[in-house]
Parts: sequence; structure tokens; C-alpha cells
Amino acid sequence: MAEGNEAATLLQGGLIVDGTAAPAKVGDVLLVGERIAAVGQVPAALVEAHRPQVIICAGQVVAPGFIDVHTHDDAAAIEKADMLPKLSQGVTTVIVGNCGISLAPVVTGSPAAPLSLLGHSQFRHGTMREYADAVDAARPGVNVAALLGHTALRMRHLAALDRPANAEERAAMAADMQEAMDAGALGLSSGIFYQEAYAADVEELVAVASVAAKNGGVYATHIRDELAGILPALQEAALTARQSGLPLVISHHKCAGPANWGRTRETLPLIEQLAAGQEMAMDVYPYTAGSTVLREDLVDGVIDILITGSQPHPEMGGRYIKDIAAEWGVSQQEAAVRLKPGNACYFQMRQDDVDRVITHPLSMIGSDGLPHDERPHPRLWGAFPRVLATYWRERGLLPLEQAIHKMTGMSATRFRIPQRGFLREGCMADVVVFDPKTVRDAATFEQPRQFSEGIERVWVNGVLSFTAAGRSTGQRAGRFVRRAQAA
Ligand SMILES: [Zn+2]
Repeated sequence: MAEGNEAATLLQGGLIVDGTAAPAKVGDVLLVGERIAAVGQVPAALVEAHRPQVIICAGQVVAPGFIDVHTHDDAAAIEKADMLPKLSQGVTTVIVGNCGISLAPVVTGSPAAPLSLLGHSQFRHGTMREYADAVDAARPGVNVAALLGHTALRMRHLAALDRPANAEERAAMAADMQEAMDAGALGLSSGIFYQEAYAADVEELVAVASVAAKNGGVYATHIRDELAGILPALQEAALTARQSGLPLVISHHKCAGPANWGRTRETLPLIEQLAAGQEMAMDVYPYTAGSTVLREDLVDGVIDILITGSQPHPEMGGRYIKDIAAEWGVSQQEAAVRLKPGNACYFQMRQDDVDRVITHPLSMIGSDGLPHDERPHPRLWGAFPRVLATYWRERGLLPLEQAIHKMTGMSATRFRIPQRGFLREGCMADVVVFDPKTVRDAATFEQPRQFSEGIERVWVNGVLSFTAAGRSTGQRAGRFVRRAQAA
């Protein structure tokens, strides 16, 4: 057991929600060093031995630190290492490398879209191991676990992106996948929605994904089509995962575009049917707007589109494309062409679809926040408290234990993250204490960089890293987190 001289903290009398979805119970949690030493009834002898600092948590919820399963924080974890947008939500671990876009193993001074979603300055890690070392050296405010991005591999190895990889290119991509798995990556991500990966076929994906499978990894995918072609796109993702032998996570599941609104009534039954034959889950963010690179083919003249950044016209950040188009006297599509390269928020979903996905037993929470946007989608700062405030407390769509499970235990289990996501003796001491009466997101589309409310204290690896009173404690205790070794 832990040494008697390690720092110890006793969280006393809080409502313990342990990450398993089991009923909450009032009790104590003892943190010793970087681990959880006891949960529930803490033996008096243990308290005696460690003489912990006592924090009264009556009326507060004590939960495992949240795991943000869908992020693009690859570079932010190094160059904005305080990670306050996440830490301030109670997030203690982020999964980077989603949507086929990862920092490693790309080395370039001028990343093209969609890699540029990760910023521009950190493409200097030629292997996953180098990236892992850079994360550890930066000592970010939260832990970082990583997927390897399929689009990043294509951009590194393919001479032309408008065709599937040939045998030689597939072998080079597979070798990078092996290196990443050896370095502790969680698995592979893809984003075949993006034109840089759209030409990839199942054979190409399986060639890379099967290396992740052999090493106990997972496969997360931004599917080819979230609009009219969503059902075949889900089938394709499931087929790729089945052929590779990988557990599947459908990224940010949504039915985008007015013509598809309501179609989660079709997609969710299909996902359930597929999940009966293979391991399958999905992530979701609690908003009806998405955010990605600006593309004129996504401009339909119907949905609202908010420009969050534009390289040629930075002054247009924060304005709606319909207003910009009217001012310029051009179509919205033409305005998009002139504003590129840039990023935008697309108000492309309907609330009932988001509700169905969030309340579905196979979904877990991921922010999909973009940390390099001038005016980011508010999910970057608010996704997790928003689930608690809106979906649990105000609308009652989720029991508290389920909401927390979707942010912690389920996330750790599905992504093979060891010793995190649960309040359990021996687990790492990633812990959040929040006020269930006041917790809420404050970030909005107009004011996107706002601290959430009600997140009282956050510990990362046993180190108190955030308090509502003082915000960052100045302590950063995150590290690169490697996947669980298969039993
Ligand atoms: Zn995506």
C-alpha cells in the first residue's frame, strides 16, 4: 500500500457517483499519492496512517474525472499545456487524434486542411513515441491518450490523395500503425468524410486497422456521410471494423442537414442491430451545431453557418455567412469560397436527434472542440457541464449516474484506458467534485471562452489542479496515457 508520507486527501461526505452507473451513495473518498486508496467507508486505520487533508463535500457530487473521448487537442496539450478549457469542465483525460487527424507522424511547417484543424506549429513529431515524449515533457494539465489518424498517414505516404493507397503505401501506413501501437496508442481513427481520405476503400482501411486490431486497439471513425448516405456509411464503418477485428466507435453521431432531421429513428436501430454482432459504440456532443473546416459544398442556403475563423478575412469571424453574402452581394456558396481557408459552425442538427443519441445506452460524451479557432464552438469550454445542466438537471433526460457513466467508466472501457474512469480502490486519482445544484456551461456561440460554473475541484493523478475559487492551481500533472494491455 502507499507510503505514509505521501500527500493524502479525504473527500468527506459527498455523493459518490463512481462511474459504473451504479446508484450514487453518500460516502468518503481517500486519495493517497496518485491513487485512490479507498471509496465509501474509509477504514479509520487508513485515515490514521495517512493523516489526510480533509475536504468536506456535503451536498457535492464526487465523480471520476471526465474523459473527453473526442478531441483535437493534439497540439494544444503541448503548446497550451494548462488545458484550461478542459480542466475547468472537470475533464482529466482527453483522447486526441480523432477524425483521421493526428499530429504524429506528420512533420511539416505548413499543414494542409484538415490537419490544420490542429493548428500550424506542432507538426514536428515523426513518430507516436516522439509525440508521447513531447506530451510528457509539456506536462499538460490533463492526461492525453492518442489515436493515430488515417488521414495523417495518407498525407504522409500517398503521392496522390484522389485514389486508394497502393500496396507499397498500405505497407508504409501499416508500419506507422505498428509504431504507434508500440508507443501505447489506443488505436486508429479515420475521417473518410474529408476529401483527403474520401478515396480510401475498405481494403486500405483494413490494411492499417488490422495492425491496430492485432495489438488490442480500437477504431474510431468520422464516417463517409452524415447526410443522405448515412446508413451505407454506418454499414461501411461496421464492415471495416469487422474485417479488421476491431471494436468500433462512431464519432460524433448525428443526422446532419434538414433533409435528414429525424433520421436517428433509422440510424440508432441500425447501430443496435450491428452492435449485436460486433463491439460498437458512439460519441456525441450536446449541441445542435457542428464545427469543422469551411466547405462550400456544406453551404445549402438553409441552415445557419457561423464563421469561426477565415484566413483571408479574419474580420468576418463571429458573423453569419448569410449576412456576409448579403453584404458582398454574392451567393452563400461564393462567400464560402472567398472565406476559405477557414472554419465554421454549422447549425445542422435537430434537438430531438441529439436527444435520442445522448440518451442511447451506446453513446458517450466527447466535445469535438477545436482549440485553435479564434472563436471556437462553445463545446470546447462547455460540453461536459452542459450535459449535466441541460440533459440531467433541467430536462431530466438522463439519470445522474448514467450521465456520469457516459463521461467516465464507459469511455475508459470502450477506449481501453486502464485504471481511470472509476472511483475504485487502486485506480488513478483523477477526480472531480461539482455542485449538482449549480453546475452549468457558460460558453455560448457569442461568448465561447467562458468558464463553466459549479466545477469545484479537479484532481489529476492525485494533484489538485483546478478549483472554482482560484481556477488553475498552477499545478499540471497530466501525462501520456497508454492503452490497457490485452489480458
Ligand atoms: Zn469529425
